[in-house]
Amino acid sequence: MPDKDLIVIGAGVAGLTASKLAAQQGYSTLNIESFVFGGLVLNINELDGEPHGSGAEYSSNLLMEISDLGVESINEAVTGLQQNGDAISVTTDQGSHSARAVVIASGAHLKKLGVPGEAEFQDRGVAHCADCDGPMYQGQTVVVVGGGDSALQEALVLAQFAAEVRLVHRGTTFRAQKHLADAVAAKDNIKVQWNTVVEKISGAEGVQSVQVNSGGQKNEIACSGIFAYVGLKPNSDFTPVGVKREVDGLIITDDAMQTGMKNVLAIGAVRSGYGGRLTQAIAEAGTAVATLKQMLG
Ligand code: NAP
Repeated sequence: MPDKDLIVIGAGVAGLTASKLAAQQGYSTLNIESFVFGGLVLNINELDGEPHGSGAEYSSNLLMEISDLGVESINEAVTGLQQNGDAISVTTDQGSHSARAVVIASGAHLKKLGVPGEAEFQDRGVAHCADCDGPMYQGQTVVVVGGGDSALQEALVLAQFAAEVRLVHRGTTFRAQKHLADAVAAKDNIKVQWNTVVEKISGAEGVQSVQVNSGGQKNEIACSGIFAYVGLKPNSDFTPVGVKREVDGLIITDDAMQTGMKNVLAIGAVRSGYGGRLTQAIAEAGTAVATLKQMLG
């Protein structure tokens, strides 16, 4: 007999929403999170688009709702999934749990630049959260790397504090949404360096400069911080072969959010085809719970 009807892996917006909707349908639900409950939006003071407001507030409201609905939440790292008769066993770093169905909503983490100095100066100028760390760079120069929504959104936050933001992008156009590109273009203290890659981060106690290469021409940017937003890597290493994945690790599902493994669904940033908007994560959670109703009755 499985412990629960449903195990949701991950407590970002997708996982919390799936837990909430499943509990509202009367399914006994366990939510497992390996890191911080709330997910990537926790670090965003002002969400861009729907839903509005602060990411931390949005996540904590969801957490309170699932707690009120009787969802059990535990802080363990999932290491594997296994079909066990009609149940699915979920192994973690601390034990084993079972359910009739599993929703994988384990999200993604920021990719590293992979350049010398990045690991050495981690938390000493190499930073990832503009809203948390921005005030420390008041009146200073910081480098932001990337040309997607994250890089531009975070550059705009940093521009409220830093004297100058150098936005370094390897391409010649942004892939970010137009309203973010327009806002960046309108900021006097954000300077875009196109066609440029970061090669090295240097410093002493903390970051002092970043070496960049623009089409073969090397330059040093004096700065005290660097924030890289060069894409996301899905948290899917724990999934078994039955859960089909793209080469980059994104989980492949059908339109009903079903993976190749029986009664295992995937939603949100860990899923191939996820477009990156919170509204989509919320909609995918709804689709997954509708599929669960058909599967579990
Ligand atoms: P992303 O869309 O994958 O963009 C990554 C950026 O980093 C691209 O501009 C890419 O350059 C660049 N890049 C990749 N590898 C690089 C490297 N090794 N060195 C230098 N540059 C590199 O990632 P993201 O901005 O984190 O966004 C992830 C998802 O979340 C997206 O779906 C996005 O729409 C969504 N998101 C949405 C919002 C919002 O709705 N406001 C906010 C944040 C994120 P190229 O362009 O040349 O490939």
